[in-house]
Amino acid sequence: MADDCLFCRIVRKEVGSDIIDEKPTAIAFRDVSPQAPVHVLIVPREHIPTIADLISVPNSCEILSDIFSLVNDIAVSEGISQSGYRLVANVGEEAGQAVDHLHFHLLGGRFMGWPPG
Ligand code: AMP
Repeated sequence: MADDCLFCRIVRKEVGSDIIDEKPTAIAFRDVSPQAPVHVLIVPREHIPTIADLISVPNSCEILSDIFSLVNDIAVSEGISQSGYRLVANVGEEAGQAVDHLHFHLLGGRFMGWPPG
């Protein structure tokens, strides 16, 4: 846990968020600035900065299993499992990663393919 990390503080429930599901090693909450009708962030409870750092975490398999279980369950509960969704993880500054705590954006509920609708 990092004292000054926003997502660590959300995990510790020191900062309010709209948490929609939880697993032993990961939680899911709605993005405060949604880019689609469904925009959920899935984050490990442990402070892991990026995907690149995940490989050196001893329980990385358990964390990934919880993250992808949450993705699956939330896609069903939010009604986007059949229509489709996008799963995005920004890594580093050039990709636009603003919060240095690993997170997956689960986006759905609107057309995101090509050509734009
Ligand atoms: P990224 O740019 O990939 O690091 O994504 C960070 C995401 O965190 C952005 O989509 C923000 O809208 C979102 N965000 C920032 N602060 C909060 C917050 N307090 N609660 C929920 N989502 C947040």
